[in-house]
Amino acid sequence: MVCSSFGDSISTMTDRKKIIHIDMDAFYASVEQLDNPELAGKPVIVGGRPDSRGVVAACSYEARRFGIRSAMPCAHAFKRCPEAIFVRPRMARYKEISDQVMKIFLRYTDMVEPMSLDEAYLDVTENIQKQPSATLLAREICKTIYDETGLTASAGVSCTKFVAKIASDLNKPNGVSVIEPDRVEDFLAALPIGKFHGIGKVTERKMLNLNIKTGADLRRCSRIELAEYFGKNGNFFYDIVRGRDPRPVRTSRVRKSIGSERTLKEDTVDLSEISQLLEALVKKISAVMQDRDISGKTITLKVRYSDFTTITRSVSCKTEISSVPEILACLPDLLNKTEAGTRPIRLVGVSASNLVPHTQRKPRQLLLPF
Ligand SMILES: [Mg+2]
Repeated sequence: MVCSSFGDSISTMTDRKKIIHIDMDAFYASVEQLDNPELAGKPVIVGGRPDSRGVVAACSYEARRFGIRSAMPCAHAFKRCPEAIFVRPRMARYKEISDQVMKIFLRYTDMVEPMSLDEAYLDVTENIQKQPSATLLAREICKTIYDETGLTASAGVSCTKFVAKIASDLNKPNGVSVIEPDRVEDFLAALPIGKFHGIGKVTERKMLNLNIKTGADLRRCSRIELAEYFGKNGNFFYDIVRGRDPRPVRTSRVRKSIGSERTLKEDTVDLSEISQLLEALVKKISAVMQDRDISGKTITLKVRYSDFTTITRSVSCKTEISSVPEILACLPDLLNKTEAGTRPIRLVGVSASNLVPHTQRKPRQLLLPF
């Protein structure tokens, strides 16, 4: 582990947060190797079968040496490494270990925001150990995870979520990276634009066209210029490149979205087939929402075309919705904004976000006919 101390220098500055981003290393694949020692040291791929249309959900570091990555089609992964061992995911087991890891976090701080089964942000500005050094805490947390689960994790330490997250990736696996507050600006200046939070493929292309390649280039743009090019996101970009990331670690355990997606058996342009599948997905997410007593304001349709280009189309409703007919009613407009029916599709998904628990929901105005 490479570490430097990050503690006292900022403990006097009350406006600075100490954030740790922890990310388990090759989580699903590592769990498989842990539970089945025969897989240790071998290229392991968790996901679909090699002859299926599924994708790689996770792969061991041994498999990564062959150029295999998450989200790659299993058939491609098989071509790259025919001797790889393909394993079906066991989500219940991953969830079990994830719960164990989340409980470890809570021994250090109650400001924990899980992002997925294998990833969480911890705000340790104030922590139970009263340890002023976030670096030492990060090291200790990773060691505890290893001692108690047998799995390694990597950690990033900084003063914002965004920089902590990037840092956790710098020294993987089993490493702690620290970007001290006084290094944040230089670090961001050197960062390629595509790595910035909130800059996806489309925005990246737009920025490259404007000759914005790094954080330093982005810094040269004024707030007004950025607002002009990127709308309200421009403001966020202006701040984040200066190390200002206003997003707090949110401890609420309410999920941010509820969704479901499925790969079709064969690519299709058949709209009725797509609609049927969407209806099944809507029934599924509506059942989860009613079960959790939650409604959503935004419905998002995801479409992946046969060439793996993936797009999403969203609509925000006036009121929170959760029933099958309400969600279904959003879909025709969203589908119209895709090339469904003309361009072959391999996957569709639906999700609801902007979730509100029913207990917090404002009473709905009943629409009574006169
Ligand atoms: Mg991970």
